[in-house]
Amino acid sequence: MRLILATSNKGKVKEIKAQCRDHEVVPYSELMEEFDIIEDANTFKENALIKARAVFKALQNRLLLCEDAVVIADDSGISVDILDGRPGIYSARYGGEGASDKDNLNKLMQEIKAKGALSSPAHYTAAIAVVTKDGEYSVHGWMHGTVLSEARGSSGFGYDPIFVPDGYDKTLGELEDEIKEKLSHRSKALCLAKIVIENITSKM
Ligand code: IMP
Repeated sequence: MRLILATSNKGKVKEIKAQCRDHEVVPYSELMEEFDIIEDANTFKENALIKARAVFKALQNRLLLCEDAVVIADDSGISVDILDGRPGIYSARYGGEGASDKDNLNKLMQEIKAKGALSSPAHYTAAIAVVTKDGEYSVHGWMHGTVLSEARGSSGFGYDPIFVPDGYDKTLGELEDEIKEKLSHRSKALCLAKIVIENITSKM
């Protein structure tokens, strides 16, 4: 089965490919020119659906979709307790429009320090939307842990250098990719998405 990803975030693409080895995973940017998608909803789920729908329609308009095409999108982010759940759905642009992962990470570390804290409980959320010609579906996954005010390690992407998953004493920046693959919000959501995809494609 070919899964078209409505993202070109390299970290996400790498993780989704690693977790969907039984499928051909193709970022949509390999099929057409990338375009801006306005994610203006209030939830991870709705923003994931906006992205998957937009890519499905754009490929359909260009006659680039086969009958049984499946487009999936991931919308994800980190919610920090001491910051009342921020950055949440704004994780990708926490450091401002066009901010890099590094800018966002620095802003989050500064905000934690500004609260006079060295760490805070936090969790990642991933919503995965699945869009086909027959319908739209969504699933979620979460990973709980602690965020630190100092970065450690360089594995993963985004906020991983400050995130220590529950049950570990190292950040995702220091842990092996395989550990994140077992624990992550994205892998939990993907497990559910794969069940949905198997069910819907068996009827196509
Ligand atoms: P999105 O592309 O709009 O879903 O933005 C997600 C943002 O949340 C990314 O830019 C990262 O900053 C952050 N994020 C989501 N998942 C992860 C993860 O697994 N590790 C680190 N950061 C993540």
